[in-house]
Amino acid sequence: MTEELSLVITGGRVIDGTGVPWYYADIGLAGDRIAAVAKARPGEESPLSGRAQAVLDARGLVVAPGFIDAHSHSDLTVLLNPTADAKIMQGVTTEVIAQCGTSPAPHTDATAAQAETMLKARGQDLKVDWRTFGQYAAKVEAQGVSLNVAGLVGHGTVRIAAMGYEARRPTADELAKMCRLVAEAMDDGVFGFSTGLIYVPGSYSDTDEVVALARVAAERGGAYFTHMRSEGRGLFESVAEAVRVGREAGMPVQISHLKSAGPAQGQSGRLIETIEAARAGGVEVTADQYPYTAGSTGLSALLPPWVHQGGPEAMKQRLLDPATRARIRADMQGTVPGWENDFGTVPFSSVLISSCPDQSLEGRNVQEIADARGKDPYDTVFDTLGQISLGTHTVIHLMDEKDVRAIMGQEFVMVGSDASCVSARLGGKPHPRSYGTFVRTLGRYVREEKVLTLSQAVRKMTGFPAAKLGLQDRGLIRRGFYADLALFDPDTVADTATYAEPHRFPVGVKHVIVNGALTVEDGRHTGAKAGRVLRRP
Ligand SMILES: [Zn+2]
Repeated sequence: MTEELSLVITGGRVIDGTGVPWYYADIGLAGDRIAAVAKARPGEESPLSGRAQAVLDARGLVVAPGFIDAHSHSDLTVLLNPTADAKIMQGVTTEVIAQCGTSPAPHTDATAAQAETMLKARGQDLKVDWRTFGQYAAKVEAQGVSLNVAGLVGHGTVRIAAMGYEARRPTADELAKMCRLVAEAMDDGVFGFSTGLIYVPGSYSDTDEVVALARVAAERGGAYFTHMRSEGRGLFESVAEAVRVGREAGMPVQISHLKSAGPAQGQSGRLIETIEAARAGGVEVTADQYPYTAGSTGLSALLPPWVHQGGPEAMKQRLLDPATRARIRADMQGTVPGWENDFGTVPFSSVLISSCPDQSLEGRNVQEIADARGKDPYDTVFDTLGQISLGTHTVIHLMDEKDVRAIMGQEFVMVGSDASCVSARLGGKPHPRSYGTFVRTLGRYVREEKVLTLSQAVRKMTGFPAAKLGLQDRGLIRRGFYADLALFDPDTVADTATYAEPHRFPVGVKHVIVNGALTVEDGRHTGAKAGRVLRRP
């Protein structure tokens, strides 16, 4: 049968996402699917040319499956910025959102109102009018989005919905409610359960609670994604906890943004051995990583968990009360049982304000701001959070380049940006990983430093995350698969976003196709919004 092809991509070097080296093939699309993959000879007429309505010349380019961002925080930005330029311009065609224990659903009336207030403080008007993941997905699709979105259900989000910001174990009724909320989200099509055990309220939970909830996701075919309790001093206990959840709940584990940070710098060798041992023992542990030595998180993550108790208003009161400030400061300088004060070892000069309603603070470090005000850095942090916004974000320099490279070189590590699809319009000085994660991996770490081969790097961005999620029709170049494709020049692809100037698009990514629709053409966003919310198969 010689089906008509809506588009034929000719002359490119195909890297198909399995990890095998490139080969010449022409690719024919029909609607939103790959309808033909035909071995081709360079300089010869395409075997598919007679059937093509349109032809895309890919000579000199690599043709890869569209990249899957295995770790994204675009939960709300896909609604605020549905063209998702920062990601799509790198070749990302799917984002796995709802990470680190925070998901866009479920919401209660109270948490939806809180989210709207937090957004308003940042000058963004978004009606949080959904409650379930299904309703969220319907809103995203009704509005239109330029890339695909795969969801998870967040532990912190269900815990707040069931019991607020309470620093205690859940009652039997509260745990049952949390289980029900996880089950509902799974039934709405999310791919697993995420935790942020370093953050409140995840840090209020014990491992038994996490296992009980993870099990609900496991029974429905979900995976466990975890931002661990510690990535520094308590790194190895935290890996052991993640492995225990995988073993006891009987499910795949993904360690989020794997790193050996702060006091654990230089420990990547032992970290890799620990994970390999867990894998050898039969637990499916994998990880994602972004290719930078700085992390990014909320400024409030510097505060001990008890400060967060009772929710945002209670926290503000504590931050503004002089006697309580003294207690917070003492804890940040010392140790609190059960809290890994990873930032205790990072100087305030390494903590950069990345986004804040007071834009004059953006791009400056806490020490610098404190000095300019003639205040000490602790009071500067408390003033910023208490008087300006609890939603203030930071970029923190806390890793060693050698560890980053060692982790990247592992077969069980995939690529994830840990970033949302920010935009210059949405403002701030976000971590450059939003605009750079995928292209930096291909430019700096493949072409320049040769930490990875090109086909290894592409596998970490495509076939591997698809396999982890259980996606059976994306992530590879195969006949019958969805036509999500990234075409780039391997000789020039590079990031240009920096800490000082993060809102900069990459070079070398020529065309990006999402569900058959040309979404980036000649390096420009076409405005196409052919993305979908993916459901667990
Ligand atoms: Zn995280």
